[in-house]
Amino acid sequence: MPNTRFQALLESRNREHANINETGKRSDLFGKNVFNEEKMLQFLTAEALDKVKSAIFQGTKIDRKIADQVAEGMKAWALSMGATHYTHWFQPLTGATAEKHDAFFDILPNGRAMEKFGGAQLVQQEPDASSFPSGGIRNTFEARGYTAWDPTSPAFIYKTTLCIPTIFVAYTGEALDNKAPLLRALHAVDQAATGVAQYFDKNVKKVHATLGWEQEYFLIDKSLVNSRLDLSVTGRTLVGSFSAKGQQLDDHYFGVIPPRVLGFMSELEKECTKLGIPVKTRHNEVAPNQFELAPVFEEANLSVDHNLLLMDVMEEIADKYNFSVLFHEKPFSGINGSGKHNNWSLGTDTGVNLLSPGTTPMKNLQFLTFFVNTIKAVDTYEELLRASIASASNDHRLGANEAPPPIISIFIGQQLSDVLDELEGVSKGKLSPQEKTELKLNVVGKIPEILLDNTDRNRTSPFAFTGNKFEMRGVGAKMNCAKPMTMLNTIVAKQLTDFKKEVDALIDKKNLKKDEAVFNVLREYIKTSKRIRFEGDGYGIEWQEEARRRKLSFNKNTPEALQVITSKESYELFKQMDVMNEVELKAHKEVELGAYIFHIQIEGRVLGEMVYNHIIPAAVKYQNMLLENIHGLKEVYGAVHKKVAEGQLNILEQIGEHIMEIKKLTDEMGDARKRANGMSAVDKKAQAYCNNVRPYFEKIREHSDTLEKLIADEFWPFTKYREMLFSK
Ligand code: ADP
Ligand code: MG
Repeated sequence: MPNTRFQALLESRNREHANINETGKRSDLFGKNVFNEEKMLQFLTAEALDKVKSAIFQGTKIDRKIADQVAEGMKAWALSMGATHYTHWFQPLTGATAEKHDAFFDILPNGRAMEKFGGAQLVQQEPDASSFPSGGIRNTFEARGYTAWDPTSPAFIYKTTLCIPTIFVAYTGEALDNKAPLLRALHAVDQAATGVAQYFDKNVKKVHATLGWEQEYFLIDKSLVNSRLDLSVTGRTLVGSFSAKGQQLDDHYFGVIPPRVLGFMSELEKECTKLGIPVKTRHNEVAPNQFELAPVFEEANLSVDHNLLLMDVMEEIADKYNFSVLFHEKPFSGINGSGKHNNWSLGTDTGVNLLSPGTTPMKNLQFLTFFVNTIKAVDTYEELLRASIASASNDHRLGANEAPPPIISIFIGQQLSDVLDELEGVSKGKLSPQEKTELKLNVVGKIPEILLDNTDRNRTSPFAFTGNKFEMRGVGAKMNCAKPMTMLNTIVAKQLTDFKKEVDALIDKKNLKKDEAVFNVLREYIKTSKRIRFEGDGYGIEWQEEARRRKLSFNKNTPEALQVITSKESYELFKQMDVMNEVELKAHKEVELGAYIFHIQIEGRVLGEMVYNHIIPAAVKYQNMLLENIHGLKEVYGAVHKKVAEGQLNILEQIGEHIMEIKKLTDEMGDARKRANGMSAVDKKAQAYCNNVRPYFEKIREHSDTLEKLIADEFWPFTKYREMLFSK
């Protein structure tokens, strides 16, 4: 049988060039496949439209009669678009999205056929939930789960299916998904932030969190990916010798995009535009064959949905162009991994970005209020924020020597640091008229001007202020943004709630003016949250020591990082903000740990298979070739052949040693896995996988990578790094 690697290489080299058609205005396509306001105007009664809008903007409920009307309109639109099926589209705890398609088509009792879809089908469905992870919720409560319509995220048509965004909850109300907690967190932050925003503008009635993600990914030829067991099953290369031409040349970033990739991107952007995903920038990333795509930011819930949808669409279109898209956070060792920066801010229904410095001292005091409160929230709950981005695959970024580090810190830049330093010196209690004037003129009044030249942007901090938003950089490329967004909005909600209480108390009990009270509370926050501010890049031992001194948490791996989710502070926080109860938190943690175990277990099995079934056989084959040659030399040269064949003999021995070592390590890893599998407590089991199984991966890899270098190219079974990364 021909080596699959060479077959794959041949296939990848004979790909046709893509035709790129980028003509036409994109704005004409925008939202074509979305049941947005324009379609609602056309397909809904005025009453139904009104009710849906108030559900979106005021969070009101939609009754059954209206639901029937909406369903009727949606169906009419969907059929006019050629849709044949509908599905409740939801986000189970692990994995990205799930759906179960039902046909509109139905047979009536009189035998006639028609397309049916009513309020009942729109509002609630009961998917067979048994195959989705529940962390024990369903067992505990003997309850089935159901999906429920989320009217705040518009329905859309993908291919021939009408997709209805939904939450997925148990009959007892516990969330079995990532969207339900997110919606609750967004509600909490709305309530808390609106209260605070009203100090500055009484007209504010609602505050929404905004999210703009930046999706990084690799595009690799499909045949090449399929030729490698590790990449196709686990999403990353478990072995592979680093290419001679690595990332050192840095010639890829913002370089010319290869034609086949451009074809993919162009079609992807078109499809996204139709789906209402406002993608805007595309460019090469630092690593070879790595790219990034970013949209215009949106309301956080919608933005999360759009990112999940995008990932599905990307896989689909990549396949058409004979690519595999890799979302894994670290598909290739020694080469930059992929993240998904989450740009986050808060916006009011009056159109103000609360993290954008304004043009008047009052607006700037508002900015500083939200800015400092966010810093304080992250300082108090840094460990929970870290937990929200923990996963087996993301451990390769956060835990390894790659930016950002797993220690959460905040970068705000020199100029804003100076402003906070000034504010720290504000007097306690009432302020003199001079001090107020001085603050207005020289501190608060100066912010916009200062930010304009705030160009020393740090690119590696885990949580950075970037002019008018914070950027959370530890989120993994593969992750559902709902997890970090639930956490961030919950902790900010809690912080703003506390802030308002403190300010109100100073106004009521100490008779301070509103701005005096705000200055007083902010001053204390600035003082008590100093440890979280760090302007360096966070690499290396010095920062780790410094972080320990500052008592910042340092959780390198997922099983460690997840512990805090079931801590007392976490229970209290989520309960007070009405985002998750203890049962849900326990369940969510259990599901994450389960996913971790599963992930490492599969990697271990695949690695074992590669060693036994591919690597050792290849090594032995090459040994045989050497042996044959040495035998031949012996026949010709007799006793002196040892001198003539010295090189061959040496390679033969080296290979023998590596075979022995790699086999020994693989067997030991198998034993460690068996021991871990015997554990019943999920916490212990995850730790065993992390501490006893996972460390073998690198050791085994070292031997494999050396063998790859020793063995004749024609015998090596796995597509090599340079073949995957530098083919066009
Ligand atoms: P980079 O971080 O690579 O320099 P950008 O600064 O252009 O890239 O990233 C901008 C991202 O921030 C975009 O995804 C954009 O939508 C998002 N963004 C801009 N303003 C906001 C905001 N107010 N809230 C949330 N996201 C925002
Ligand atoms: Mg960024």
